[in-house]
Amino acid sequence: MPTLAVIEDLVVAFPDTEGRRRLVVDGVWLDVEDGETVAVVGASGSGKSLTILALLGLVPAPGEVVHGHVRLVGVDVRAADEATLCGLRGRTAGLVQQEPSANFNPVQRLWRPVSEAAKRHGLVSGVKERRALAADLLAEVGLEDAPAMVDAFPHQLSGGQRQRAAVAAALAARPHLLVADEPTSALDSVSQAELLRLLGRLRHERGLAVLVVTHDLELATATGGRMLVLHAGETVEVGESVRLAKGPAHPYTQALLAGRVVPSAPAELSRSRCRFVDGCPRAMPRCRQARPALADGLEGGLVRCFLWSDTAEAAHG
Ligand code: SF4
Repeated sequence: MPTLAVIEDLVVAFPDTEGRRRLVVDGVWLDVEDGETVAVVGASGSGKSLTILALLGLVPAPGEVVHGHVRLVGVDVRAADEATLCGLRGRTAGLVQQEPSANFNPVQRLWRPVSEAAKRHGLVSGVKERRALAADLLAEVGLEDAPAMVDAFPHQLSGGQRQRAAVAAALAARPHLLVADEPTSALDSVSQAELLRLLGRLRHERGLAVLVVTHDLELATATGGRMLVLHAGETVEVGESVRLAKGPAHPYTQALLAGRVVPSAPAELSRSRCRFVDGCPRAMPRCRQARPALADGLEGGLVRCFLWSDTAEAAHG
């Protein structure tokens, strides 16, 4: 069985107002094994949501993936045609979107969107079967009175209930991987904790891998799996979340943990120096002369910093 999801040296570009190619992601590495939890954490503009879209072949035009390997269950996402990608979306990877409202059409009763992916992949047919599946899924994600809930409209649900229903919809085609993009950003702290517990339970009960994207380091740590830290369009640190929370290796992760305000992303993604050099309290002359490569760090982790490795990133593209 190939690794469930792999991204190697991803580069995503958008044209600027003068038509020049502007890099918005440049140097993201990510992998997710069957059944594991991975949290991708980064500030606004770090490239985390675009990374997820690239994984699913959904980078919106005029943006494009201009470099890197992207594979889902061994399928080359960049080379795959739309029919192949549609076969993967929902069935291999179910997506819970950032905006609760983006997951639902306001005029559709819940049973339709919740059972949609299962219908698209030929797992159910007919209204009766779809309603029954929706009721089962809504019950599985912990919504009370699920048989009645299938006829509710999205606006009749609380924010926490809507996100649970979005998770139910993402599970409908029995994916191996659940991708949740900022799933708790619109929720209060109680609902956030409940949603995290739900994701943990589903991973355990369904043998799912879970990929959570968040700006919240505390939340990323609470997922208890591996953590990837993104800064300025590149992966800067990878490691077990518990270890990272106790002893981060990269100065950017240290700044995030200390709650210091750090720049989200420079205007240009430099390839000739460290992108954190202007905010780094440990910067050395070398950090302005070359861009560090992602190299071995603490306890099997990876870190992109000259404090840990002398290796500089090879130029490409
Ligand atoms: Fe700081 Fe240099 Fe490491 Fe960049 S490479 S994080 S500037 S020490």
